Amino acid sequence: MSGGDKLDFEIRPNPAPVSAADRAALLANPGFGRVFTDHMVTIRYADGKGWYDARVEARAPIPMDPASAVLHYAQEIFEGLKAYQSVDGGVTLFRPEANAARFAASARRMAMPELPEQAFLESLEHLVGIDRDWIPSVEGGSLYLRPFMFASEVFLGVRPANEYLYVLIASPVGSYFSGGVQPVTVWVSPDYTRAAPGGTGAAKCGGNYAASLVAQAEAIEHGCDQVVFLDAVERRWVDELGGMNVFFVYDDGSLVTPPLTGTILPGITRESVLRLAERAGHTVAEQPVSFEQWQADAASGRLREVFACGTAAVITPIGEVRHPGGSFTVGDGGPGAVTMSVRQQLVDIQRGAADDEYGWVR
Ligand code: PMP
Repeated sequence: MSGGDKLDFEIRPNPAPVSAADRAALLANPGFGRVFTDHMVTIRYADGKGWYDARVEARAPIPMDPASAVLHYAQEIFEGLKAYQSVDGGVTLFRPEANAARFAASARRMAMPELPEQAFLESLEHLVGIDRDWIPSVEGGSLYLRPFMFASEVFLGVRPANEYLYVLIASPVGSYFSGGVQPVTVWVSPDYTRAAPGGTGAAKCGGNYAASLVAQAEAIEHGCDQVVFLDAVERRWVDELGGMNVFFVYDDGSLVTPPLTGTILPGITRESVLRLAERAGHTVAEQPVSFEQWQADAASGRLREVFACGTAAVITPIGEVRHPGGSFTVGDGGPGAVTMSVRQQLVDIQRGAADDEYGWVR
């Protein structure tokens, strides 16, 4: 596939799908990332040939040669977005074009071919269409979509591969917070950084997450839910969490989030929050926040709320912050009013329950 050529998807329905009764049992309590639907989409790429062999077929293991390049040099990228059961009984996707664009940007950074936006979007529509009975109808449930692509060429050598496989799978997920929105405790890592200038921080590549695991383990050892990464140069500026962007809410109603300088992931929730908060009359700014300032503003009371945001949990209040020198709380440690209001606005748009003024819902 080159330029504007359209890919034809061959559809081979799963001959042995999960029974309706078994599916209902799985959907009653799906958890996160453990239950998968009946189908997957695959598209192949080869240099000189472009994108070809697009299929919707039964979800199955992918046979792999031990010398597949991805297993050695980690040329791999992914995305994450959700399909929601909308209030009118339809199915909605939230800003999938933004995920397509970020997937293409990640591909460029990792010297991989870009999957055309239209093929990315069509893959989502095919999978959600064929597996739509897998979208949980429980409050807060959704179908998590995981597009990914890796170097499938059988070759040992450090250079961009010339064959790739794009795959899309889907996993029904329950509400991230059973029993209401709970503030999390975060650990500010003194030892580990996530991304350096010129590195891969702005790309959604598996390697970034592999590199974050020891820091996340350190957070858990300190009784925290998530790790906060500081910048790699000065170890002073707040970058982001392991899998979420961060927002600071001040007593004058302003919201501040770290700027996109190449070391943090440009979150789609982050960008949506900036727009919604501005529409609601808040002053918003993308500007650096030092960890020192975070502590000082929490102590003075100028800082009222801090929240993390991302597709998985939408918006998560940050109640307590721990670091090697001690700990502190933000506000009263509970979910703040601005946090909860932005959260509600987002959730309502995602489920088709509020005016979609920006055309975010597909
Ligand atoms: N930062 C990181 C490191 C992430 O993995 C994610 C999740 N994709 C985010 C931020 C939030 O991005 P989004 O709002 O697009 O889910």
